[in-house]
Amino acid sequence: MRIDILTCQPDLITSFYSHSIIKRAIDFNKLQLNVHNLHDYSLDKHKKTDDYPYGGGAGLVMKIEPIDRCICKLKEENNYDEIIYMSPDGELLNQQISNELSLKENIIILCGHYKGVDERVRQHLITREISIGQYVLSGGELPACVLVDSIVRLSPGVLGDIESALEDSFQDNMIAPPIYTRPEIYKNYKVPDILLTGDTKKINEWLYEQSVIRTEKYKNKNNIHN
Ligand code: SAH
Repeated sequence: MRIDILTCQPDLITSFYSHSIIKRAIDFNKLQLNVHNLHDYSLDKHKKTDDYPYGGGAGLVMKIEPIDRCICKLKEENNYDEIIYMSPDGELLNQQISNELSLKENIIILCGHYKGVDERVRQHLITREISIGQYVLSGGELPACVLVDSIVRLSPGVLGDIESALEDSFQDNMIAPPIYTRPEIYKNYKVPDILLTGDTKKINEWLYEQSVIRTEKYKNKNNIHN
């Protein structure tokens, strides 16, 4: 899978792909992650990527030209399945969207900044808008990292068996059961006896029950009625 991230602040993304599962995916050639600095695509002599909004108002707007030039260059080299703009009013990211995107070959992700991007970018250059939640952040870089992490860990061969993503919450509309590790007792806090019996059948039944309880609690907390 190839992911190209377009940003005015590439440094915000560097540490994300230098660690953990994303680094492993890159090292094992499961992921080719390219970060493009939009300043490099500006024709302005000061490499500006933003300007004042038409009609007035506070803040700066990201210009269409550097974004278009970068996307055009990438499209000359590859076919893209999706060109995604991270936006607070996009589709709310969930596990289903991450599953769907994990099956794609090539994706572009555009990070906004300041007030956001010139509306013509949204109208003409992108294929999809994704939000990571109903709140506003200062830039699309963290949202892009959240999206990439959620997608890449689902790509075949990225997680080892032991961490199988299929057992994670939301994967089958269930919340994962509680988990414990050594020691058995810590300050009177005990691991449930059932987990120490070695009876795999009973343990699995218990884990399933716990998962059902957690799912119900989750739905109540979040007012989900189905
Ligand atoms: N003025 C815009 C917010 C701009 S925030 C508005 O009112 O809708 C600046 C940038 O941060 C956005 O362009 C977007 O790329 C990113 N961003 C902020 N919050 C986000 C969220 N919840 N999900 C995805 N991207 C977000």
